[in-house]
This record gives sequence, structure tokens and C-alpha cells, in this order.
Amino acid sequence: MTRFSGVVMATLMLLWGCDGAPAVDQAQPWRAEGKIMGTYYRVLVASPPAAALPGLNEAIERQLAQDNHQISTWQDDTILSRFNRYRGTEPQPITAGMADIVSTALRIGAKTGGAMDITIGPLVNLWGFGPEKQPSMTPDARQIANARARVGLEHLRLIETDKGQWLQKTLPDLYVDLSTVGEGYAIDHLAALLEQRGITRYLVSVGGAVLTRGLSPSQQPWRVAIQHPTDEAVAAEAIVDLQGHGISTSGSYRNYYELNGKRISHIIDPVTGRPIDHKLVSATVIATTALEADGWDTGLMVLGTEKAKQLALREGLAVFLITKSDNGFTTWMSPQFSSFIISRNDKDA
Ligand code: ADP
Ligand code: MG
Repeated sequence: MTRFSGVVMATLMLLWGCDGAPAVDQAQPWRAEGKIMGTYYRVLVASPPAAALPGLNEAIERQLAQDNHQISTWQDDTILSRFNRYRGTEPQPITAGMADIVSTALRIGAKTGGAMDITIGPLVNLWGFGPEKQPSMTPDARQIANARARVGLEHLRLIETDKGQWLQKTLPDLYVDLSTVGEGYAIDHLAALLEQRGITRYLVSVGGAVLTRGLSPSQQPWRVAIQHPTDEAVAAEAIVDLQGHGISTSGSYRNYYELNGKRISHIIDPVTGRPIDHKLVSATVIATTALEADGWDTGLMVLGTEKAKQLALREGLAVFLITKSDNGFTTWMSPQFSSFIISRNDKDA
């Protein structure tokens, strides 16, 4: 959900229709596409009931705009931006949707030992990846320490009662950044919109996250490919059938800037206060919801290959990791991930 011109962000490819089946009689899906949250969204529907289509495009756009209006930090007038500007410690009302995101993010944050931290905003801004761009992209140790002092999940409290939901900061200048889970949330919400209209065969993607249900127009599983981590090649590392699940990839090779020949990632390690700098190049997670998948991938990415493997095994997560090696890349998947695989790159098999 970060805004970068000229940087390709998709690390998942959508392969509907190229499933090796003869290309005859393949009905075209209904589709809607556009820009949201600094990235692209896509909705594909196979065999939609006729009654489901009138106004669907507008409903999709309206809902995405509403989601963005709650959780974006890139616009001043969103609910989240208002919360971030507020310099007090009184609980502030938020929507049920935001409460969902925050509670998932806090839970995953705790399970990753704070590697995934939605209060990371001051550090993201400091390194030049947030809306508050700063002129120098090489902060010094003092600036990093200052920003780190404003970060920490222990300073954020979610209050949920039958009367409503509130968010409270115990540090007046805490800055919440939901960028890393916004895409997943928007997808789940779109899926709910489609289901309400009786649509049961669809693919929804926002940025680097995807959710599919039912069969594609060619009566095959919707196929999603995890891309090989090279800049130009469009090679598939693995192809999965999501079987109604959500998938999300976090990668260090798609969204970065170069400084003195070194790649600076937009994913920040809250422990060091610096962009991640290790050999794990992408973490892909499949989970029951896209929000869940989108929350875990960033945390795993921060942790690096070994700790990410341990966490995936401990939590029983469906995870696919691509790690840079001396002469290329190595891949690893958890047992839960393998049940979704349709085909794999021969070299890794
Ligand atoms: P990717 O798809 O590359 O993982 P996302 O847009 O999903 O990217 O998430 C990256 C964004 O998440 C960053 O631009 C930043 O706003 C935020 N972020 C960076 N580091 C962390 C972190 N440790 N925990 C939570 N959010 C982070
Ligand atoms: Mg994510």
C-alpha cells in the first residue's frame, strides 16, 4: 500500500485461463479494475448471476473508497490520520472495520514478538517511505532513536464493547500505520460484497494480496503464481489453488530505493529501527482471510529466514519463503503450504 511510481509491486501473478486446458469456449469473466490505496485492485467474476451485476462496479468503487477513507495515512481527512494527529490519550471512536484490522494486527504483532508493528509509522516516515517524506534518506542514530521512542505496540489499546470500538494511545504522538494490512482487509470486504450479491466464483486482488473462491470461467481452479524474484523475468516459482483462502506476499525486491548501490527496503525492523537487511527476499502466506495473510507476511519478512521458519512451524502457518543464496535463490515451504500447490518450478522440486 505504499506509493511508489515506477516500481512494480505485484509479486503474485494471476493465471486464470492459462491453465493448460484447450483455449476453447472459455467464457470471459466479468471484471472490474482500478487504482486504490496507492496500488491496483482487480475483481474477476465467473458466471455471475445476472441480477448481481447492475451497479456492482459502483458498489465496488464506493466500498474501496470508504475503506481507504478509514485506514489510509496518505490522506489528511481519514479516520486514521485524525487519530494520528490527535495529541491526547483519550480513547477515540473508530469503526468496526478498523477494530477488526487493529485486533488482527495486534494479535499477529504479539505472535511475531513485535516484528510486525502497526505503530512503526514514525520510522517509516523517517526513512522516507511514508507520507511525511523527509529530505534526507540517511537518518543518523539519534534520529532513529527519537523515532523508535515513539514506536511500540504496548502504547496502543483497542477497546471493544457492545456500544462501539475505540482506539487509545498512551503516548500522545504515537502514529499508527495500517499500510501493511489494508490490502488484505479491502479484499475480505470486497469478497463479502460479492457474496451478498450471490456471487460464488470470483478472484479479488488488491496490491500483493489475492483471495479466490469457486472455479474460474474455464471450470478450473483460479491459479495464482508466486513470482520468481528477479526484476525483469516473469517466471513462476510455484502455482497455487487457494481453495477459498487469501494469499499475500511481502517482498524486499519490489518496493525499495537504491542508495549508494544498496537496496533500502520499505519494511522496517522495529528492533533496529532500520530497513531489513537480510537474505529473505519474500514471504508468502495463505490463510483463511486475506487480512490474516497480509498481517503475517510482513512479520515473517522482518524476522528473516530462520526465525520465519520457526514461527511458521510453531503457529502451523501456510508459508512459502524465497531466500537469496550465493548462486541464486532457495525456497522453503511449510507443510500447510504444500497442500495448496498445483505446480512448482522444476529446479526446486
Ligand atoms: P509489501 O507488500 O512489500 O510487504 P506492504 O505495502 O504490504 O508491502 O507493507 C509495507 C508497508 O508496511 C511499509 O510501507 C510501511 O508502511 C509498513 N511497515 C514497514 N515495516 C513494518 C513493520 N515492521 N510492521 C508493520 N508495518 C510495517
Ligand atoms: Mg503485509
